[in-house]
Amino acid sequence: MSLTGICQVCETARADHTCRTCGRQACPEHWNDAVGACSPCARGLDGGGGTDPDNSTDHRR
Ligand SMILES: [Zn+2]
Ligand SMILES: [Zn+2]
Repeated sequence: MSLTGICQVCETARADHTCRTCGRQACPEHWNDAVGACSPCARGLDGGGGTDPDNSTDHRR
C-alpha cells in the first residue's frame, strides 16, 4: 500500500500524485494535471514552450 508522502518538489506539502515519468511524488501545487506529470517533468515534456499556462502562481514580471 502506498502511503501519502511529501511532495518531492517543495518537500513541504503533502503529495497527492505520483509522477509516472520520474516516479517522484508531487503535491497538487506541483502537479500538472494537463500533462499528467509533476511540474518539473511537465516543463520538460512540454518542450520548447516558454510559457506555463498552468503555472499561474509563479508570476514573473
Ligand atoms: Zn510541492
Ligand atoms: Zn516527474
